[in-house]
Amino acid sequence: MLAISIDGLNPDALKRLGRDGAPAIWRLIDHGVHTFDARASVELTDTLPNHTSMVTGRAIERDRNGHGVTWNDERRDPATVQEAAGEDVGSVFAEVGDAGRSSALFTTKEKLRLFGRSWSAALDKVAVQYRDETLADAARKDLVRHHRAFTFVHLGGADAAGHANGFMSPEYIDTVGRLDGLVGRLEHAVRHRPQLEGTAIVLTADHGGRGESHREPEKRANYRVPFVVWGPQVGTGDLYDLQGRAYADPGREQVGYGARRQPVRNGDVANLSLDLLGLGAVPDSRFDDKQDLRVR
Ligand SMILES: [Zn+2]
Repeated sequence: MLAISIDGLNPDALKRLGRDGAPAIWRLIDHGVHTFDARASVELTDTLPNHTSMVTGRAIERDRNGHGVTWNDERRDPATVQEAAGEDVGSVFAEVGDAGRSSALFTTKEKLRLFGRSWSAALDKVAVQYRDETLADAARKDLVRHHRAFTFVHLGGADAAGHANGFMSPEYIDTVGRLDGLVGRLEHAVRHRPQLEGTAIVLTADHGGRGESHREPEKRANYRVPFVVWGPQVGTGDLYDLQGRAYADPGREQVGYGARRQPVRNGDVANLSLDLLGLGAVPDSRFDDKQDLRVR
């Protein structure tokens, strides 16, 4: 299982680039299931809180059984997600480790080392490289050399280009196109290396963005993210068309956690990945905790 997070990926960038400008991601879309209307966590549209939701399957707000990671910097206090939550917090890494299997994290941002500290016994490798190309290359080599059950790859260049030049600016769009090439290298390894046969890919983003920032969680451009799943156990088409009673297309809205039918969220990554690996959900998680998100 390979999870790819493209930091700050507004799905409109994929539409803008089209199949010629982003062939790798569009190949996953065309041969897998997808939506451009998945949602970030309700409380915040920031990098570290939303990535913590992706790996724990929890919402953010501590008082509502969330993971409690509300900051977005490299602070070492609290040192772990468990300290932030004030209780034990599981993760996709911990569940994979408990099953006796291996996981790895490749990230372009130092602050995601929080996960290495929080699940140090379970995570077999944590690599931080600031350049996306270097990082993707290291991840690709690791994928083919080691038998990982779960690899998380975080690419940061689009977010950096968004903050420097504006989200959805020409520079930002160009960067998404460049990152697509790196996704293509990972995808190529998964499709052609026999040792990676059976590997599924899920691709999403921590938040979107338009203009200067992505910080206001009530704005559609910020809470709207893509969610793409591809693999041998995965069907094709619109993700919402496959769902039963638990999930529904949110239209243009963000949807609260109390709603009976939830949107697909970036926080579904943890339990969907475990589901595709044949493993149970993260204990005390919220997103896809019944593992009833359908991908076929
Ligand atoms: Zn981010």
